[in-house]
Amino acid sequence: MPFLTSPRPEQLTGPIRLAAPQRPFCEGCDTDDFLIFEEYVPSRVLPGGQVRPAETSYTCIECGQVGGHSVPAGWEPPGWFWYA
Ligand SMILES: [Zn+2]
Repeated sequence: MPFLTSPRPEQLTGPIRLAAPQRPFCEGCDTDDFLIFEEYVPSRVLPGGQVRPAETSYTCIECGQVGGHSVPAGWEPPGWFWYA
């Protein structure tokens, strides 16, 4: 009976860090071309000086996947601007 000599893939990757900002992306479509952004909150400084990263929520109009999470500094939805 053979023994496993290499680590299984699930032992190589740690748990997904939900707090890590990431760019919006549809894994189902392998692109961000179909994403419609419903909400975007720019990064802001909380009372106490802590910086809270920008957040967005979106829907993929191609496959219907929805997502919402923090995004890296500098990212904002395409064509985003502040309404007066
Ligand atoms: Zn999609």
